[in-house]
Amino acid sequence: MDIFRTVAELRKWSRDKRYEAGSMIGLVPTMGALHAGHASLMRAARASCTHVAVSIFVNPTQFGPNEDYARYPRAFEADYALAEAEGASVVFAPSVEEMYPAGTATYVEVEGLSECLDGKSRPGHFRGVATVVAKLLIAAEPDRAFFGQKDAAQVAVLRRMVEDLRVATELVVCPIVREADGLALSSRNVFLSVKERERALTLSRAVRRVEALASCGDRQASALIAAARETFAAEPAIRVDYIALVDWATLEPVELAIPGTLFAVAAWVGATRLIDNAVLC
Ligand code: AMP
Repeated sequence: MDIFRTVAELRKWSRDKRYEAGSMIGLVPTMGALHAGHASLMRAARASCTHVAVSIFVNPTQFGPNEDYARYPRAFEADYALAEAEGASVVFAPSVEEMYPAGTATYVEVEGLSECLDGKSRPGHFRGVATVVAKLLIAAEPDRAFFGQKDAAQVAVLRRMVEDLRVATELVVCPIVREADGLALSSRNVFLSVKERERALTLSRAVRRVEALASCGDRQASALIAAARETFAAEPAIRVDYIALVDWATLEPVELAIPGTLFAVAAWVGATRLIDNAVLC
């Protein structure tokens, strides 16, 4: 499996493959420290694409000044092995200078949506995400790009971006992969102590509770959010960032949960910020 370090190499590969009859190019953008959640995206990509590029790039512009860019886990050897085992065709692992050449002055801003949910507590985060994903889509020119529902607000921002910029790539959203006890897989889970790992289950517990209430016909946002707050109240060591019931396309709060409404939570477990969500039926 090839490793490309430059945009030019990735673009040349993609264009060469495009000329093969019946080819479909898939892109799986990641920040590395790959786990079974990332593997599920690669598998989905392999299932519907003839060639799959996996990008591994810890994108500095999506981290705030006091966030965990420097300590974000990096594990290239293991990532390479996992991508290869999942049938990726190439890994794209550029340097920061390759993605942001000296003098870079161009950024992608998805107005409005970028200030909602994670964007509200992490100013500039979605500008960084939209910018790097736009660069990856321009570089790889994939037919399909695969993202996890785990980052549901990110999906809303990227869907808007692809629509607004008339990008020719189809976004495919894959379900959240969880540990057996419900914890959503995240590269940041390695930061959790044993005690914090236990506390972190509060997020999935709140999500499951809201899903169960909604499926029993409890559709009032205020009641659903109150139930989630109650679940978090049982674990006072966790600091809630947000508990929200929103329209998944606009990220605007709703009063009534309907099928497709997004229930999302973010919370600090010690020094680690975790997120979880469910799209209600
Ligand atoms: P990241 O490396 O955290 O930027 O994530 C890369 C991609 O993997 C994003 O589209 C995430 O939404 C997705 N992803 C992360 N965790 C999970 C998970 N537990 N289940 C499914 N997809 C995930």
